[in-house]
Order: sequence, then C-alpha cells, then structure tokens
Amino acid sequence: MSEKTEADIIILGVGTCGEDLSLRLLGAGIEVIGIEADLIGGECPYWACIPSKVMVQAAAAVQDTRHAAAMTGISEIKPDWAPVATRLRWITGGWSNATALQRYAERGGTMITGYGRLTGPRTVSVDGRTYSARRGIVIAVGSKPFIPPIEGIDAIEYWTTHDIMKLEALPSSLLVLGGGPAGCELGQVMARFGVEVTIIEPGDRILSREEPEASEAVEAAFRGEGIKIHKGARAKRVESRAGSIIAGLTDGTELAGDRLLLAAGRAVDLNGLGLESAGLDPSLRYIEVDERMRAGDGIWAMGDVTGKSLQTHVAEYQSAVIAAEILGQDHPPARYDAVPRCIFTDPEVGAVGMTEARASDQGLDIVVALKQLTRTFRGLIDGVEQGFIKLIADRKSGTLVGATVVGPRGTDMLGMLNLAVHARVPLKELQTMIYAFPSFYGTIGEALGVRRGLTTVLDPDYRGFEALEKVGR
Ligand SMILES: Cc1cc2nc3c(=O)[nH]c(=O)nc-3n(C[C@H](O)[C@H](O)[C@H](O)COP(=O)(O)OP(=O)(O)OC[C@H]3O[C@@H](n4cnc5c(N)ncnc54)[C@H](O)[C@@H]3O)c2cc1C
Repeated sequence: MSEKTEADIIILGVGTCGEDLSLRLLGAGIEVIGIEADLIGGECPYWACIPSKVMVQAAAAVQDTRHAAAMTGISEIKPDWAPVATRLRWITGGWSNATALQRYAERGGTMITGYGRLTGPRTVSVDGRTYSARRGIVIAVGSKPFIPPIEGIDAIEYWTTHDIMKLEALPSSLLVLGGGPAGCELGQVMARFGVEVTIIEPGDRILSREEPEASEAVEAAFRGEGIKIHKGARAKRVESRAGSIIAGLTDGTELAGDRLLLAAGRAVDLNGLGLESAGLDPSLRYIEVDERMRAGDGIWAMGDVTGKSLQTHVAEYQSAVIAAEILGQDHPPARYDAVPRCIFTDPEVGAVGMTEARASDQGLDIVVALKQLTRTFRGLIDGVEQGFIKLIADRKSGTLVGATVVGPRGTDMLGMLNLAVHARVPLKELQTMIYAFPSFYGTIGEALGVRRGLTTVLDPDYRGFEALEKVGR
C-alpha cells in the first residue's frame, strides 16, 4: 500500500501535545498525518516531566529515610543510582518510540518520520516529498534546551537536561547553570544521592518567577541539604582543566565541578520551518496565536512554540482548544489567568495565577494573606520546617487571583486553589466551606482566615482575610 500524502489535518511535531491532539482527532474519525523528526511524545515522556519526576521520587525516598530517624529511631540508607537508572530506562521504554508508533498506527494515523518544513499554507515537505492537508496544519514543534553563548562552551563536554535523564553513574560534583525549576529539581536530586552540587543563578534569587517567599523557603531547604547557591553572577567562560570543568563568573569567582549541567531555559527556533511560505513571521520569538490557537487561516500552533507557559498541561490544554474547533465542539477560548506552575523540589512549590508583584503591577487592589505551615497542626505533626500558603485576593471581585503553596504536597494542595482562581469562586464560599482536620488542604482554610478555636492556639494573631469585611462579602 502506498504511503498516504493527503489527510484532513497535518500535525508538524508529534511531541507532547502533537501526540495528544493526534489521539483526540483520530478517536473522532479525523484523518491525520503526523510528522515527527525524533521520538513520538517529545520532551515530556522521554526527557522532561516523567523521567525527572522518577528521579525526584527516588530522591524523596532517600530523604524520607533520613527524616525517619527523628521520628522512629536510627535509620540508615546508602543511596545507589543503579535502581534509578533502571527505572528511567523502564519508564522511557529505553528511549524508544516503538509502542507510540504502534499506537499511532492502530488508531489509524499516518506517521512520517523526518524533519518537516511548510511549503505553503496547506503543505509540508519531508525529505523532498510533499504532504497536503485538506483542513489545516497544526504546528507543535516544541522547544529545545537553551545553550547559553558562554566563551569555551563548545570546547567542553556539558550536560543538557536530555543527557542527565540517561545518567548511568553519578559524578562526585556538579555545577548547575540556572536556578529555575529544572535546575533546582535536578540539583536537589543529585545532592540527595551524594553529589556535591553548586547552582549558579545570575539573578538575586532562585525560582525568580515565583513569590520571593517561595525562593527563600527553597533556598533555606537547599542550604540545609548542603547545596551551594551562587547568586548574582553569570558564567562568562568555561573550560576543562585537569578533569574538572571550571566556570569563570562575571563577579570574578571560579567554580569547579566534575560536570556541568545546563539548565538555563528553553529555546524556540522558528527558522527553517518554512513559516514564511504560509504567511507567518519566522523572525518572531514564538508563533503568535489567538484565543483559538489560530496562527493563520487553516494554521494552528500549540505547546512551547507559542511561548504561553512552557508546561505540558498548558500544551495539552491548547490541544483541547484546537481539537474542539476542528471537531466543531464547544470549548471556551483559551485563557491563561489560572495556569498552575508546579516545581517538584522539596519543599514543593505550587502556584497559580498572579504573584503579589504581578497583581500590583497590573494595578489591582489586592489583599494578601500569608500563613506559615509551621503554625498549623498539620505542619506540626509532620515536622514541617519550610512552608506557607500565600493568597492574593482582588478586593473588587472578592475572588482569589493568585496563590502559592510551598511545602509537602504543595503541588497537589494547589488543586483547590487552582479551581478557585479558574472558576473565580467567591471568597465567602471558600471561607464558609468545611475543611477536613488535620489535612494539609485544611490549612488553606486557615490561610483564608477560617477560624476555629483550635487554629488560634498555634497562631493567635493570624487573621487571613477574616478582618477584611469588604473582601468577598
Ligand atoms: C527537565 C524538564 C522537566 C519538565 N518537567 C515538567 C513538569 O513536571 N510538568 C510540566 O507540565 N512540564 C514540564 N516540563 C515542560 C514540558 O516538558 C514541555 O512544556 C512540553 O513537553 C512541551 O510540549 P510540546 O508538545 O510543545 O513540545 P515537545 O514535546 O518538545 O514536542 C515537539 C516535537 O516536535 C518535533 N519537531 C520539532 N521540529 C520538527 C520538525 N520541523 N519536523 C518534525 N518534527 C519536529 C520534536 O522532535 C519534538 O518531538 C519540563 C521540561 C524540562 C526540560
């Protein structure tokens, strides 16, 4: 049977959201040609979310054993990377997409392996062969690890977030360039397995997009675990010397490590995709889309390439918007005011919507509540050392516009706050519902100012939003 060269929809880049959209459309009887240069599924299952969380979970088990000593008596652990490497190979299927390929074919999709380029508004070429779309093309080419232009970088062997997922043995020390979510998560994993870790953060705090209190809490935890954080200077030069990698920083410091991990962000490269042939501008940083993810007539874009928020759940949300449009189903236009951001460090950081600074910059009349977990019974029971709930309420609408939870299960605790911001739940509803005691999520009620006699025992002066009669009433 000859290969299909025409379909209803062509998806260029069958990575995280490209695969998601393919499966949604194929399930509804739409003919799809997927074009993928590498592994079907892209970053998330092979190089990012899933393998990194396998590592984080292993590191959490190491730490739990260490914590156990304080509660149950002496406990000892000798962390070994071998089982982690085995689980990484297992969860990624050995970085093979055989299963995904088979699934694609079984669902009726046509997969073209190779690098695709648009040659017109409805056509894509791969290795000299042209494929046509009757209804349109979806561009989902993702992003790549950003390689900062540092003197000497091409002459050394560095790791990107891809390389570290395939790690079979650990170095004794590691320099991590970048104190964002990936650098912090992976740095803490390595440290818990005995690697001497130094994070180089050019700004004045790690996790700089989050609330300053979140950065402080994670920095305090990192210091407690022996992770060094060098702030306020960039690496301007790197070299390999006597088996080590030396990073020369802009403040004159020299740092040395066995290995260097680049975690300095992501790069989207629109060049070479033939965007101009479809009337799109390749000189932009990201592909611009409207609230239906349309980049042009019969052209949609989704995922990292749109630059909205480089996370899997955002990419898949955008895929749902496009699927609804193609299938003629109802879906509200895309909005990004309730995007959750989850950082799987310990303590975990779960955040949604605006930070306090962002809300102030936007001129909102806000009220802020900040509740320390150490002053809650759940925090006390668990021996929590770092953690808080910060809530940003808009006085005018009487709703939450942002929230951050730092602490154990912070990313899951975020769930109800995610809903509250998304659905614009009135504060008075949140303040009058019943919270389970002593659950972690119950501390959100305390943060809001829901007072029982008991909550005054550990935090007598805390009021939350309780005293602000105008909020949500
Ligand atoms: C270390 C790390 C951890 C992360 N952890 C999380 C997390 O816990 N939670 C979360 O939500 N997000 C996380 N992310 C972000 C998440 O992985 C990405 O936002 C998501 O995978 C992006 O999906 P995408 O479909 O846009 O791109 P990708 O998954 O990168 O897919 C793009 C695909 O397009 C292909 N492609 C590119 N150009 C072409 C072309 N011209 N022709 C054919 N194919 C092409 C690529 O080969 C790739 O497969 C993490 C990222 C990193 C780096």
